[in-house]
Amino acid sequence: LKDYSSGFQKESDLLVKSGSIKLKVPEESSNAVVLVKNLYLSCDPAMGVLMRGVPVPGFIYPYKPGSPIYGYGVAKVIDSRHPNFKKGDLVWGMTAWEEYTLIPKPESLIKIEHTDIPLSYYTGLLGMAGLTAYAGYFEVSSPKKGERVFVSAASEAVGQLVGQFAKLLGCYVVGSAGSKEKVDLLKNRLGFDEAFDYKEEPDLEVRIDVYFDNVGGKMLDAVLLNMRIRGRITACGMISQYNLQQPEGVHNLMNIILRQIRMGGFTADNYLHLYPKFLEKLLPHIRKGEIIYIEDVARGLENGPRALMGLFSGRNFGKQLVEVACE
Ligand code: NDP
Repeated sequence: LKDYSSGFQKESDLLVKSGSIKLKVPEESSNAVVLVKNLYLSCDPAMGVLMRGVPVPGFIYPYKPGSPIYGYGVAKVIDSRHPNFKKGDLVWGMTAWEEYTLIPKPESLIKIEHTDIPLSYYTGLLGMAGLTAYAGYFEVSSPKKGERVFVSAASEAVGQLVGQFAKLLGCYVVGSAGSKEKVDLLKNRLGFDEAFDYKEEPDLEVRIDVYFDNVGGKMLDAVLLNMRIRGRITACGMISQYNLQQPEGVHNLMNIILRQIRMGGFTADNYLHLYPKFLEKLLPHIRKGEIIYIEDVARGLENGPRALMGLFSGRNFGKQLVEVACE
């Protein structure tokens, strides 16, 4: 990161630098560190917020000017001083946007045991996006079979999974997305019952039992007028608000009372203990092809800044990640 930008984060705030490192844990290191080779890096909207120096739950600290940015990624252990990790292990967790990274607290890394699944999926489907969708839908939304579920940013990392989880439960699922291609993806590949382009059709007319909110703002306001009595709104993210100087007001809040709506927020880092249960539940569905995952892969670290910034204009088509190296 060059500097905290004067306004909002932009591609030119990130600089790609080259240098050389020793491919060994340095002798002087007395801590139980591990050295990893980064394979895939996850692009997450929260990273834009960290670029402005603002803390985000689930991330350790805001990015420091002059240092590499960091986030979730998949990596291979090259050298280890930690008893739980050995050379050759595949892991996912927090790592820096570098080719090789010395991980100071490897306890936070999760070892990848199921390598029949594409490794890149551990940045999304089997990483934080997957856990977010799982915890947000099954733990927070109190879902029931047969309900009408609405998901915004539905074709992306979290949304595409929430929609598929709701379909597996036997719900009627509607999704919104920002282009015709994304709407086609929702209807023709991801199994949504209905989908619409919110830029072309801003007026919402659907009856909703559960709204899984990834965007906030005007969409949330519109949803409040379409909720069924005793519906639930799960506040997962508000990407439409992250880059505004002044967040938009929500005008229809009174409907929370009138329609007896329950609205609750959550952050996925509080549900990490569910990861083994999440894997156990999901892996059979993935192996049978009952859950699919759409990824948008930028190849090479040098294309990372553009990929990351693309999240804020909807340039990504599915889970955005950066392939740094093949195993
Ligand atoms: P992605 O990064 O995969 O996709 C972001 C998408 O958001 C874009 O492709 C775009 O799609 C849409 N978008 C961007 N700007 C706007 C806007 N102004 N209005 C409406 N839509 C917009 O998203 P994720 O699936 O990773 O994350 C979804 C949400 O969940 C985000 O708000 C994120 O911050 C949040 N989140 C929350 C977590 C938690 O623990 N609570 C954990 C992980 C994510 P389109 O083309 O449809 O506009």
